[in-house]
Formats: sequence, structure tokens, C-alpha cells
Amino acid sequence: MTTRRSRHPRNAAGDFYVTQGCCTACGVPESVCPSLFDSGADGHCFVSRQPSTPTQVDGMLRVLRTQELDCVRYAGREPELLKRLSEAGESGLCDARPIPPATLVERVRVVVGAQGGAGLTVEGEARALRSGLLRLLDERGRGTGIELGPSGASFRVSWFEAVFHLVEVRALGDAEGKLEVLHEGPVGLSDLIDDYLRARGGLSIEWTTRSGSHGAARPW
Ligand code: SF4
Repeated sequence: MTTRRSRHPRNAAGDFYVTQGCCTACGVPESVCPSLFDSGADGHCFVSRQPSTPTQVDGMLRVLRTQELDCVRYAGREPELLKRLSEAGESGLCDARPIPPATLVERVRVVVGAQGGAGLTVEGEARALRSGLLRLLDERGRGTGIELGPSGASFRVSWFEAVFHLVEVRALGDAEGKLEVLHEGPVGLSDLIDDYLRARGGLSIEWTTRSGSHGAARPW
């Protein structure tokens, strides 16, 4: 059984597609994965090329878990892809029914330490992270100011209209001076934070769920 949606007529034939409908020209798919998306003069995006390599599949799945309006969907039945989307809480973007049961694994917490003993400060890292995320989001990104509180530092970031997501930086209080970064919103924000941390270098990085389980080097 499948859930059928109307497809944008310019989608490349295949399992991933953009639905036809009201479009706010958000620009998210083209920004996250420009090799697989294009858009018309009205700004309505479409899948210009279906993913054919593992890297391209990763890029496409990243779009599905970063988008705010759920326009991009998966109509295939590949068990591994259905599992990955289900684990990320995105089974609603799959046309296939029923979706095989999978444990929801939302890695929205990352524990960060400085390699080589350099110290990390909550406020300094929050400011650097905020700047780094806005730089990666380019003109799409907007961020609130840094707020300092008893539990750490926080700010909010948005890449679509006024949909802001909370990002918090806290000290773990361990001997190594590690910090934890937690966020609300889609798992795609984990990917963005991971991009920033890896580009920065010199850090130990471990992603977990909010409760600290399912530790992994990458968020997804
Ligand atoms: S993802 Fe949706 S809102 Fe954004 S450009 Fe594509 S169709 Fe428009």
C-alpha cells in the first residue's frame, strides 16, 4: 500500500520527488543538496537528478530531514532507506505503508572536547557556534543573540522564515572540560552543527540522543 501525492512535473523520474503545491520558495533543498535539486522561475524546487551513489543518497536524505515544509518525499520501498528515515522520525515522508518498525534515534546532543588540552568555555563556544552556523547557512540564516543562564548559553537559529530552533551549550563538569551542545528542531540541524565542528577541527565529537544513548561519531 502507498500514499500517493501529486508530483511536480519537472521531477526526475524516480523514488524521490517534490510534491506539487503551494511553495514559499524556501530554497532549502537547493541549498542543502544543489547537485540533486533545481527550481523554476517561480522558485518551486524539483528533483533534477535522482541519487545514484551512497554520498548522493546521504545528501538527499539530509534534505528530507532538514526541510521545514515536508515537500520532498520518498516513494520507494528500499528497506534500509525506510529504516533510516523512520529512525530519524521522518517516516511520514515515505509513501510506502506500513513502514517497518524502527527505534526513533534522534541524535540531537553532541559532546565536544578539545584535543590537546586547550580549554573550551561555554560562552566562547556558543558565540563561535552561532557565528559558524550562520556562516554555513549564508543568506538563509538568522540567529538570535546569545543568552547566558545558570545552565549555560543558548541562542536560536532559523533557515526558514520565523521558524527558530533552540541551541544550548552547557559544561559537562567533567575533568576534561567537555561541553555538550543540544538542540531542538529537525535532525538536519545536527548535520549542520556537525559540519561546523568538523570544519573547525581539533575537537573530539560524540553524538548521542538527548538522554545520552546511541553514541556515534556522526549524528545520523
Ligand atoms: S522545499 Fe517546498 S517550499 Fe521549498 S522550494 Fe521546494 S517546493 Fe518550495
